Amino acid sequence: MTTDQILPCANPGFGPLPRRLTRAVTIGGVQVGGGAPVVVQSMTNTDTADVASTTKQVAELWRAGSEMVRVTVNTAEAAAAVPRIVDKLAMMGIEVPIIGDFHYNGHQLLTAEPAAAQALAKYRINPGNVGFGKKKDAQFATLIELAIKHDKPVRIGANWGSLDQSLATRLMDENHLRAEPWDAGRVLREALILSALESAARAVEIGLPADRIVLSAKVSGVQELVAVYRELARRGDYALHLGLTEAGIGSKGIVASSAALGVLLQEGIGDTIRISLTPEPGQARSNEVIVAQELLQTMGLRAFTPMVTACPGCGRTTSTFFQELAQKVQEHVRAKMPEWKVTHPGAENLTLAVMGCIVNGPGESRHANIGISLPGTGEAPAAPVFEDGEKTVTLRGENIADEFVGLIDLYVERNYGGNARVA
Ligand code: SF4
Repeated sequence: MTTDQILPCANPGFGPLPRRLTRAVTIGGVQVGGGAPVVVQSMTNTDTADVASTTKQVAELWRAGSEMVRVTVNTAEAAAAVPRIVDKLAMMGIEVPIIGDFHYNGHQLLTAEPAAAQALAKYRINPGNVGFGKKKDAQFATLIELAIKHDKPVRIGANWGSLDQSLATRLMDENHLRAEPWDAGRVLREALILSALESAARAVEIGLPADRIVLSAKVSGVQELVAVYRELARRGDYALHLGLTEAGIGSKGIVASSAALGVLLQEGIGDTIRISLTPEPGQARSNEVIVAQELLQTMGLRAFTPMVTACPGCGRTTSTFFQELAQKVQEHVRAKMPEWKVTHPGAENLTLAVMGCIVNGPGESRHANIGISLPGTGEAPAAPVFEDGEKTVTLRGENIADEFVGLIDLYVERNYGGNARVA
């Protein structure tokens, strides 16, 4: 199915368009595409050969909610470490699909380390650097044959930064023959799209079923990414992995990724996402998982953890207490969610509000499942709490933060407590 065939929206003008129908690909038990919820994935930045630190970081990413984790497999030592990492994770009770990221020598590493080839849930192949010159086709074929032999899916992941140069040259030459040549940017976008599509067609020709192929074509510019993925979606029904490559550090990386992926997800394009953030010094790698989850949740596509609505604060807020409470509430519900997921399923849909004064406080708090309106400058030192639109209690004194967090726990217990899953 292509974007042309998308069904009309049931509620025109509101919400994302229906998801584009793609082939379902199963990756270590996780379905990507075929109507499955958009899957969150991430990538480690440890040396894969260092089994202890890679296992620790995979576990951290998984605990944050990553549903698949990619590791680079760049050396014989890294390939040898893969099955040990997977075993260690299993001993910790962590069953997360591990994806191997291969460049240049994947055909050799996977041939030499069949245990790694078997332990990995998917192989990521970059058609731009799988091999060069005469060796390219043979090395690509070897990788696909290994995927067939080990019964694994692949992601054919083209990247702007490592574009297949022979393909780019071919398209540049063809462009010179056009009556109205395209601009260079369009030719390069086309090269990236064709690199993914032609490699997928070649993989199918070799014998890999189309429902074992995920495609990506990443660039670092927002508008380029949107244009490239619209085309990829229009030209086929492969499951698509979305990501803005080299998104950057801090707020720039978050904003650029959210802008690009938000547009595409709104159009129903994208089956799995990764936010390629450069961690700030000292920042946890798992931040990229939280950003991916928050992007999907704020768009109404999935729910992972209760979301806190908080006003920005202004001259009416009396102190930093209001910011501290908003942070405390968000951290509390995030920390509780792994437990609630099992004991109180549905709690991830809870909405919370922490507001700084009477101007918008009571109104916004009434829209949330549970909200608190703190006293602003000149207001009486009292904080009314609202549950499902009704004022239930007014908190006063030194313990407002702890009492409000206690009320959140009680709300969750009352409203989601009867649905505990049997372990
Ligand atoms: S709710 Fe009150 S404190 Fe918060 S931004 Fe609005 S006016 Fe300022």
